[in-house]
Amino acid sequence: MSTNFLQTAGLTARYGDAQALFGIDFHIATGETVAIIGANGAGKSTFLKAITGLVKVAPGALTIDGKPWGGRSPGDIVRQGIALVPEGRRLFPSLTVEENLKMGAYAGRPGPWSLARLYTLFPILEEKRKVPATSLSGGQQQMVAIGRALMSNPRLLLCDEISLGLAPIVIKEIYDALPAIAAEGMSVAVVEQDVMVAQRVSRRLYCFQEGRVSLEGASDGFSREQISQAYFGIQ
Ligand code: ATP
Repeated sequence: MSTNFLQTAGLTARYGDAQALFGIDFHIATGETVAIIGANGAGKSTFLKAITGLVKVAPGALTIDGKPWGGRSPGDIVRQGIALVPEGRRLFPSLTVEENLKMGAYAGRPGPWSLARLYTLFPILEEKRKVPATSLSGGQQQMVAIGRALMSNPRLLLCDEISLGLAPIVIKEIYDALPAIAAEGMSVAVVEQDVMVAQRVSRRLYCFQEGRVSLEGASDGFSREQISQAYFGIQ
């Protein structure tokens, strides 16, 4: 039986006076791949920000390895083994592909991921390693963003809408890399607006609606109607 790497209980988050999350109960086991789906504004990105310390959460609402997590700085988060592939990728535009990848290793932990390992996962990045990262196609830039996160050797990889704006064949290529990543025992949480993609790549899913979990369970265990209801709140 696997153990939970990370868990939240009644997690709330706010932006000033506006509450964005209303009591999120979530867990992810070591080596598990989980999807978080939901419409625009449902609170998915805010939840990732809460995990990575970018928005404040109440003491005790978040536990890692069963212990309350009170770390605050981005460096703390990375050392604790959590890496985020941010929405929009946010690569360093003046750096080459390889320099971008190496940036991921600075604050990281020892572990199996190295440049050589990444180049096996995404061979195109080795071919393009000396060119500016922003000269790559959108899909290749996404590979750099994932690779940069992997270089910190995380225990939990958080991916925020990595398929946004990419062609279906490129989305498939990127998501096809996930099993090789999770095979190392890494937990992976993907925020995804495309429900079919989310169901295909994950074992379990959470649907968020207006800052709450509206559905949770095995990814292949829901009808289209159940998902629509949970996603949009309509019958
Ligand atoms: P999307 O798919 O559009 O990224 P999301 O599910 O990730 O949506 P969030 O971005 O987490 O949703 O937004 C949740 C709620 O918090 C929304 O009502 C949004 O308007 C609000 N919100 C998000 N960021 C901020 C911010 N920086 N300041 C104030 N309110 C915010």
